Amino acid sequence: MRINDNYLKLKAGYLFPEIGRRVSAFAAANPDAKIIKLGIGDVTEPLPAACREAMHKAIDDMADCASFHGYGPEQGYAWLREKIVANDYQPRGCAIEADEVFISDGSKCDTGNILDIFGPGTSNTIAVTDPVYPVYVDTNVMAGHTGEVKDNGEYEGLTYLPVTAANGFVAPLPDKPVDVIYLCFPNNPTGATASKEVLAQWVAYAKKHGSLILFDAAYEAFITDPDVPHSIYEIDGARECAIEFRSFSKNAGFTGVRCAFTVVPKTLMGKTSDGKDQAIWPLWNRRQSTKFNGASYIVQRGAEAVYSEAGKQQVADLIAFYMENAKLIRQTMTELGIDVYGGENAPYVWVKTPGAGGGLSSWEFFDKLLNECHIVGTPGSGFGAAGEGYFRISAFNSRANVIEAMKRMNERFTMASS
Ligand code: PLP
Repeated sequence: MRINDNYLKLKAGYLFPEIGRRVSAFAAANPDAKIIKLGIGDVTEPLPAACREAMHKAIDDMADCASFHGYGPEQGYAWLREKIVANDYQPRGCAIEADEVFISDGSKCDTGNILDIFGPGTSNTIAVTDPVYPVYVDTNVMAGHTGEVKDNGEYEGLTYLPVTAANGFVAPLPDKPVDVIYLCFPNNPTGATASKEVLAQWVAYAKKHGSLILFDAAYEAFITDPDVPHSIYEIDGARECAIEFRSFSKNAGFTGVRCAFTVVPKTLMGKTSDGKDQAIWPLWNRRQSTKFNGASYIVQRGAEAVYSEAGKQQVADLIAFYMENAKLIRQTMTELGIDVYGGENAPYVWVKTPGAGGGLSSWEFFDKLLNECHIVGTPGSGFGAAGEGYFRISAFNSRANVIEAMKRMNERFTMASS
């Protein structure tokens, strides 16, 4: 049996194992240290009561032949898809139909699975931002859409769009046509958002070049600024060039429950190998019908409750809770003279590492924070070469841990910004 050699192209020493290795070594040498992890993007707070109640009731439905649910529609139940459209899209003027919404068990899977319907090998040119949510890159490597990894950690064949403080963490338009572009707003890891004007430029670019935008809006619920768009479909023309990924993981704390959705407009077209126009929707519909058997009934009932009156309030409270954490983190960084970004419309605070000569490296800052304050964050360089010299601090934690972590930084962190 031959294996998929592309898997061997994946970089070793992936970010989170290396963090784990350093934290374990530190913990072994300092058994009394109370380490606070502000590194991961997992939620910490309980599920909203409305979702729990709906899932309890859904389990009871399964106890009776009359209300039992076996296999559901591969695309998701219509009642959930309709609620999504009525709550997430129609009020924002987005012309999305319920049958353009595909329910799934996660955005991570969807952003990887979508590659099934793309042409083989390097038939598409692909652009990602740098730094980037690593799943976009690694899934393309696995699918054979890239060349080998280079010395700087980039893959041959991918177009990298650096995002730094200099461009306000918003990717510049590629200086050449690309076929597929990954955009993530609010962004993981930088916490940056894109204005309507910026998204309109991307939509215009995509329409001009026949490109597809893969728009990851997993963190849209954290947007507090009323002018920031929540969906790419708020932009005219996006129905012709964009797929949007959304998730219940971060708004309703479903990281362990698993429910998300992907929007594929029926007006979105791609090209066959002989240059003919082909709608994307039937391909994704076929892909999901063939390889996916639907998200669980119980979980979809839980997701539906996000849109109940009680659910909306409870989700808003959860978001407000994490955003207060983000505010506390931002405040402390500012007091310490550290340049701070993000954390205002996203649960991630992105800091410039302090220190002379451009600052510490991301990993030097990681070690310093761990050694001095017993705090774990995520080195920006792990998300891409342009993330070097930056560091991600997550607001997903208990209030007590965030307060304690920031107290330690105020008391023990020995370096102010240069
Ligand atoms: N997209 C981004 C940008 C993320 O940061 C994450 C999770 O951290 C996901 C998608 C994954 O979401 P899900 O839990 O729905 O798979």
